[in-house]
Amino acid sequence: MKTLIKNGLVVNATGTGMADVLIDGETIAAVVAPGSTLLGFNLESNVDVVIDVTGRYVIPGGVDAHTHMEMPFGGTNASDTFETGTRAAAWGGTTSIVDFVVQYPGENPLERYNAWQAKAAGNCAIDYGFHQILSDVQDSSLTAMDELIEEGVSSFKLFMAYKGVFLSDDGQILKAMQKGASNGALMMMHAENGSVIDVLVSQAIAAGNTSPYHHGLTRPWQAEEEATHRAIMLANLTGAPLYVVHVSAKQAVDQIAMARDNGQNVFGETCPQYLYLSLEEQLGASSDEWGTFEGAKWVCSTPLRSRAEGHQHHMWQALRTNDIQMVSTDHCPFCMKGQKDMGLADFSKIPNGIGSVEHRMDLMYQGVVDGHITLPRWVELTSTTPARMFGMYGKKGVIQPGADGDVVVYDPKGHTSIGVQKTHHMNMDYSAWEGYEIDGHVDTVISRGKVVVDNNQYVGTKGDGKYFKRGLSQYLI
Ligand SMILES: [Zn+2]
Repeated sequence: MKTLIKNGLVVNATGTGMADVLIDGETIAAVVAPGSTLLGFNLESNVDVVIDVTGRYVIPGGVDAHTHMEMPFGGTNASDTFETGTRAAAWGGTTSIVDFVVQYPGENPLERYNAWQAKAAGNCAIDYGFHQILSDVQDSSLTAMDELIEEGVSSFKLFMAYKGVFLSDDGQILKAMQKGASNGALMMMHAENGSVIDVLVSQAIAAGNTSPYHHGLTRPWQAEEEATHRAIMLANLTGAPLYVVHVSAKQAVDQIAMARDNGQNVFGETCPQYLYLSLEEQLGASSDEWGTFEGAKWVCSTPLRSRAEGHQHHMWQALRTNDIQMVSTDHCPFCMKGQKDMGLADFSKIPNGIGSVEHRMDLMYQGVVDGHITLPRWVELTSTTPARMFGMYGKKGVIQPGADGDVVVYDPKGHTSIGVQKTHHMNMDYSAWEGYEIDGHVDTVISRGKVVVDNNQYVGTKGDGKYFKRGLSQYLI
């Protein structure tokens, strides 16, 4: 099967140019000047399918490096399975995800990795890889880190919050980082001071402050800044590279920027919710159905931050200046009925998470329209850097010969009304993005040479997606 995508503006992280893209089988075979022949070989009359994309952008498929499909959390499971979540991702122009294998205290990381492989196998619409979460850092976990790298799991996530569930103490973090410094693994950190948060939460509940808004108030920016700094110092001490997930506080951004200016391998990720949504909007949220519990729709950790304090503005700026390097979703959806409502009387019982895997490419494209970032930077933040950061670049994250045929045709004159209830494809009974209007549209999504979304139809098949065995981060020497 040969496909020619002609007359498009190809957008890579390095810039834009008019070009025709030839996909042969699962791989991009050539990127050539529009209408050109290859040594007299007429491309158009020698391919099976020609897609004329005049006036539209041709971009590498999105890489969402932070998702939690069917993750067990707080007595329930994230509502998207690998099947529904990856299909929704495809709808939104994302052609690869990196999901998290969960290891709770006492469990064997390798067994958990095998369990996650079994959950995903044969179910995914797009390609997928895995990071490994380590909670308690046992000696066997350190050995497992070497073995998992051989399996293509080259990044390990630790938590400084969620005591008794995920939290690693500083000594455990130190040991894991020492291992990362020696075997080349990228160490990922959920940076919030869990002990401080646990006290603030119990004080709020005791005082009768039980509504969802208090989730944000009890996870203040100081707890994020402090933990981010502590993680940076532990990484500095051990020499491990550090990747801070879902950064939301401007003070944490500044810690990361300072460490980078000092020459340390520290990277930061943010998510669309920290660019667009705020604590004030969560406070103001109310509906006939839910009352002020409406705010539970936006309970996630790290929490939404105050717009009056300027976190969102600072974050857009950090994306432009590269103080923050990439945007993932932290896709971790829960329904309001039967899941979020476990916290009706106590915000600390609300499962933490927002579903966005379908909307990331659109929401970030709106950042181009609004003048925050350039077109190439859009591709860099959502595809190229995630691919490089997690050892997938060359195959993913770029339109070039030899890359996987993961291509999205994006229409800058199109329009997308996102998040209006029941129009999205994520397995959720609400949308955190209801009412958002985007000045662009995902027209066609090609995953390893196969069209999976076209003209507002899903035309792929369950199991199209394959496991991607990642290498070490391509940002590290
Ligand atoms: Zn997460």
